[in-house]
Amino acid sequence: MQEALTLAAFASKVIIVQRAGALTGQACYRDRVNAQQNIEIRFNTVVTAILGESTVTGLRTHSASGGNCDLEVAAVFAYVGLQPNTEFVKNEVTLDPSGRIPTDGFMRTKLPGICAAGTVRSRSPHRAVSAAGDGASAAVTLDRYLADGAWPFYDSARDGAGPGEHG
Ligand SMILES: Cc1cc2nc3c(=O)[nH]c(=O)nc-3n(C[C@H](O)[C@H](O)[C@H](O)COP(=O)(O)OP(=O)(O)OC[C@H]3O[C@@H](n4cnc5c(N)ncnc54)[C@H](O)[C@@H]3O)c2cc1C
Repeated sequence: MQEALTLAAFASKVIIVQRAGALTGQACYRDRVNAQQNIEIRFNTVVTAILGESTVTGLRTHSASGGNCDLEVAAVFAYVGLQPNTEFVKNEVTLDPSGRIPTDGFMRTKLPGICAAGTVRSRSPHRAVSAAGDGASAAVTLDRYLADGAWPFYDSARDGAGPGEHG
């Protein structure tokens, strides 16, 4: 919705193709999107193809009620990629209900020697800068682990306070 609002200031029309039957973001953005005259929302719809040879000329969509539909558009902004790719560790680490990996504040998982960083991590703020910070923290944690072999995983969900000094 933030991206659609930004684009709506420059484009004559913005179409949001939304898989779900409603907008699920923050209410303040929902209100602004709903009030924006040049934003149209197609609910319960998925994109199946981007059309065009050297440039984008259209978008093919599909919905259960309307079937296939070709829209004439000049550009596509893909806002996808929020699904964490954690399938490969699910047998090693218990994932949270969203499929993300629980860690303590030092990026440790409960499995000694395994850290998680960035958006695969539970309660990630989903920002590039925090992902980079997580990576730096994980590197320090693993450097210490390799030096002393200690892995005092702290279950922050249990009582909400940090363990104090690192490792
Ligand atoms: C549409 C969109 C817009 C966003 N806009 C912003 C924004 O404006 N500002 C902001 O700060 N953040 C934004 N974010 C969030 C930001 O992109 C992420 O927080 C950041 O990219 C997370 O970094 P990461 O390293 O955790 O994951 P990613 O950047 O997703 O990197 C993970 C990498 O791991 C690779 N990978 C996955 N599985 C495996 C595997 N099994 N083996 C090997 N490699 C694997 C992937 O190919 C990928 O290269 C946005 C995210 C999305 C999806």
